Amino acid sequence: MIQPKTQQDIETLRHAGEILAGVLTALKEASVAGVSSVDLENLTRKLIAEAGAVPAFLGYTPHGADRPFPAALCFSVNDAVVHGIPNETPYILKEGDFVVLDTGLSYNGRIVDSAITIVVGGEDKTDEKGRKLLESSRKSLEAAIFACENWKKDFPQGIKTGDIGHAIEETFSYYKKTYGFNMAEYLGGHGVGFSVHEDPFIPNFGKAGQGPVLVPGTVIAIEPIVNEKSEKIYLDKDGYTIRTKDGKKSVHFEHTIVITEEGAEVLTVNR
Ligand code: MG
Ligand code: MG
Repeated sequence: MIQPKTQQDIETLRHAGEILAGVLTALKEASVAGVSSVDLENLTRKLIAEAGAVPAFLGYTPHGADRPFPAALCFSVNDAVVHGIPNETPYILKEGDFVVLDTGLSYNGRIVDSAITIVVGGEDKTDEKGRKLLESSRKSLEAAIFACENWKKDFPQGIKTGDIGHAIEETFSYYKKTYGFNMAEYLGGHGVGFSVHEDPFIPNFGKAGQGPVLVPGTVIAIEPIVNEKSEKIYLDKDGYTIRTKDGKKSVHFEHTIVITEEGAEVLTVNR
């Protein structure tokens, strides 16, 4: 069941989102060749604590997991799709690595979730296809946000989860056709705000007009998760890291947004 947030919740989430955007900016700057994933985990914890917030992923046990997640940061390199653990097997960043930095925090009990993908050393350290891979997720996320911002005009009866999936699919289809990229199977966005994962599920493809209506006050994380080749994924033996079956790269960008009376507002941004 969708639990819409009050104006006061949204005020708190806006502040939480600003903190999280700052954390991700700092993590991006710190992600240079030679740095360890453990350093990035420690930096995440330090910055979140300094801002008076609490890591939302650390100690969280998602549905189906047999132990709590041991880190504040999900750190997923190259063939890791989501939920990589930075502090169990330290990983030293190399130039040209694709790194998903995904973190969430709770501020006054209200939770936001956001992710970026970076190329260590800069995007000129990868090829044209690598840059298009990043662009495909970024543009798909933008299309989803645009659909939400314009729901009053385009979906006067209320925007549904299928409308968001459809907007993503429409934008992504060019990249799928041209470069052979695929959205990772099973994964998608989700409601957020009171806990890390809430209803509804936000698909990365779908039919317009299907699924529940997102009423004003609904807070969702949108995350188009793009694999370089096959959509197939598997769970690693650590019980958390999801990887591509073909060993190819995966990337994603994620924002937490709120559906408003007028449209939508992105919460996880620097203001
Ligand atoms: Mg996330
Ligand atoms: Mg998420």
